[in-house]
Amino acid sequence: MPKIYITRQMPVAEDVLGKHFELEVNPESRVLSREELKKVVYDCDGILSTLADKLDKEILQHSQKLKVISNCAAGLDNVDLVVAKERKIAVYNVPDATTQSTADMTFAILLSLIRKVAEAEAYIKKGLWKAWEPNLFLGEELYDKYFGIIGFGRIGKAVAERALGFGLRVLVFARSKINIVHPRILQVSLEELYQKSDFISLHVPLTQETKGMINAQAIKEMKKKPVIINMARGAVVSTDDLVKALKEGTIRGAALDVTEPEPILPSHPLCHLRNCLIVPHIGSATVECRALLAHSAAENLIRYFNDQP
Ligand code: NAP
Repeated sequence: MPKIYITRQMPVAEDVLGKHFELEVNPESRVLSREELKKVVYDCDGILSTLADKLDKEILQHSQKLKVISNCAAGLDNVDLVVAKERKIAVYNVPDATTQSTADMTFAILLSLIRKVAEAEAYIKKGLWKAWEPNLFLGEELYDKYFGIIGFGRIGKAVAERALGFGLRVLVFARSKINIVHPRILQVSLEELYQKSDFISLHVPLTQETKGMINAQAIKEMKKKPVIINMARGAVVSTDDLVKALKEGTIRGAALDVTEPEPILPSHPLCHLRNCLIVPHIGSATVECRALLAHSAAENLIRYFNDQP
């Protein structure tokens, strides 16, 4: 029976896999250390991993009989795909499961930031609310503003649907022609998106091309001091350039589900800026999504060992 290691406790995956494989599960509620990961890749036929497991070149070089990695995530940027291919290790992700939860979260963090939800709640809990005030926690509206979307795949499209519901005008930058005809959705160049957008939402994968694409030069082209929303990967944005832009007001805010580095420490400059809202990479953190992710990642392993890659 092939041996599968599950790097975090996921009861749904354990139920699905238990009948088919010899299972070992990380007994602790923490990410495996690099030494532990090396032992796992040496010892097992398959791994059910999460995006916190950095399966890079150094780790994968310890693999002996590892045949398959099933990543319980939409992205695959935690796996060195070149080395995996060299070592004939099949790699799976779960592209569909995270779409709706991540698209919802895009507006959750954007609205939280621009309507000062967290600050307003803290104000009440500190006992500071004495009376209704005409200028208390004034924020800004979405209606009729320009919402730029960079990366028009599954999540980008789901975000566009929600944006229309808020009465936004959607500007899309995508490399190939989009086949959506809607009076409020327009495909534009990156330059035009930077010039016209009041909000810019990132939905590209992390690749050599997208790494650091939101940097000082790009921010300079953003004419309306937009709010940037990063639901993609932290490294798509240059963190130093973002901090500088937030401090200088060349952009008016950032709503971040993902950061570089992750986890981000409370001492980091981004955590000291009032115009920056950060949540701990919880875009896909819904009960529905995490169950579907675990189930699909487990099924990918079964499919692989049944010769149905
Ligand atoms: P997807 O369906 O593969 O869409 C990605 C889109 O990005 C594709 O349309 C792709 O276009 C486009 N793209 C790639 N490189 C580009 C570039 N240089 N310039 C412009 N567009 C580019 O993936 P998805 O499901 O929407 O997810 C997108 C990313 O979100 C994932 O890769 C992951 O990193 C991140 N994510 C985050 C969370 C979270 O919890 N925060 C959850 C899920 C996913 P082409 O077709 O031209 O390649």
